[in-house]
Amino acid sequence: MLKIAIIGGGYVGLVSAACFAEFGVSVMVAETDPARLDRLRRGEIPIYEPGLDPLVERNRAAGRLGFTGRIEEAIAGAEAVFIAVGTPSRRGGGHADLSYVFAAAEQVLAALDHPTVLVTKSTVPVGTGRRLAALAAARRPELAIDVASNPEFLREGSAIGDFMRPDRVVVGAETERAREVLRALYRPLNLIETPILITGLETAELIKYAANAFLAMKVTFINEMADLCEAVGADVHGVARGMGLDRRIGAKFLHPGPGFGGSCFPKDTLALARIAQDARAPSRLTEAVVAVNDARKAGLGRRVLDAAGGSVRGMRVAVLGLAFKPETDDMRDSPAIPLIEALADDGADIIAYDPAAMAAAKPLLPAAVRYAETAEAAIEGAAVLVAVTEWNEFRALAPAWLAARMQGRLIVDLRNIFDPAAIRAAGFVYHGVGRGSVS
Ligand code: NAD
Repeated sequence: MLKIAIIGGGYVGLVSAACFAEFGVSVMVAETDPARLDRLRRGEIPIYEPGLDPLVERNRAAGRLGFTGRIEEAIAGAEAVFIAVGTPSRRGGGHADLSYVFAAAEQVLAALDHPTVLVTKSTVPVGTGRRLAALAAARRPELAIDVASNPEFLREGSAIGDFMRPDRVVVGAETERAREVLRALYRPLNLIETPILITGLETAELIKYAANAFLAMKVTFINEMADLCEAVGADVHGVARGMGLDRRIGAKFLHPGPGFGGSCFPKDTLALARIAQDARAPSRLTEAVVAVNDARKAGLGRRVLDAAGGSVRGMRVAVLGLAFKPETDDMRDSPAIPLIEALADDGADIIAYDPAAMAAAKPLLPAAVRYAETAEAAIEGAAVLVAVTEWNEFRALAPAWLAARMQGRLIVDLRNIFDPAAIRAAGFVYHGVGRGSVS
């Protein structure tokens, strides 16, 4: 049985570990956060990810998946060691903060007693693999340590399906042993004919950033088109459908909304802009995506205020959805944060509800925000409803049901989850995104 270690038991580390174990690999996860480790060891899953609990449980029970706080225990006998720690934006410039990656690498190198393949699964700037190889050669010249890049493309909310049935696997590996170990790990995907793209280190590292920046650009583009639709009386959904049917463009990521957030797009677009500037090959498009998206998120509060006639002071505002997207509890860079801050600054009485993200949201939102146990409780007596995350349970809210519970008649739908005609027929003033011709 192949044996591997994964350093970091967050979204990517935990999902990758459970999925590799499901492929029949023996996986040990090293996690430094004592609270997170404690929960993992008790069989609890510290993150919200559909389908993850039974997968972890089954593989723990089968003895293929374990958790430890001790790096040396995790890497004992491992043929590959994956680094899956965070790479957030560094304060100030927006470069990726590699301190967790290098701290993990130092710990691994200090504890290794056998040759292995050191793999970055974290999203790391171009050149990081090369730096890690130099570090390994400097720290442990007596051990043959190969460095590889294996960026992860899973999406929170559908992470297991994405890992098990990816569009492709990218492996940056420059030695036969590194290529062999990674091919062996991903062999089960041969059955579903997943392309495994083998490249050099720099190419693999850049593929991840280029892919994320391109997707972020698509989202940002349709958001700008949505604003234009509002100005000229067009319907952005018609525009998106008409564009998306062109196979050169594709229909995905053409849904307008409040601007992208989450743990990846904001930091990865910013990091790519910095990587490109440092390399003296600036990516103006990526820089524009960052600026346009930041401005969009900063303007969300104004959107609601304008819809309410200039101010929401003293009004009860129900905010439905806090996470940056449905099916996750991840609040990192969620558009809900600047929106709610702006509404609170204006003096709104805010009551928020999210099916999964309220615990993660509380420390990030103004103290005055109240939280409801259910969508219904949030809506009861509200003057204004603002839909921020398109959880399925919000789509099912019937206009007459909303009208019976709300006191006011204003809905700002930042995800276009409601049918404008039906909502208006129930007596509401409705503001969607880019639905000029259906307003
Ligand atoms: P995360 O913050 O959820 O998890 C990182 C974990 O690593 C934390 O639990 C932390 O305690 C642990 N850790 C940090 N240093 C450690 C060390 N030295 N030893 C052991 N554990 C340590 O982060 P994440 O969302 O899983 O992201 C990890 C990487 O994967 C990032 O580079 C991210 O850009 C990339 N990525 C994330 C996603 C996503 O959807 N979240 C998708 C693709 C790629």
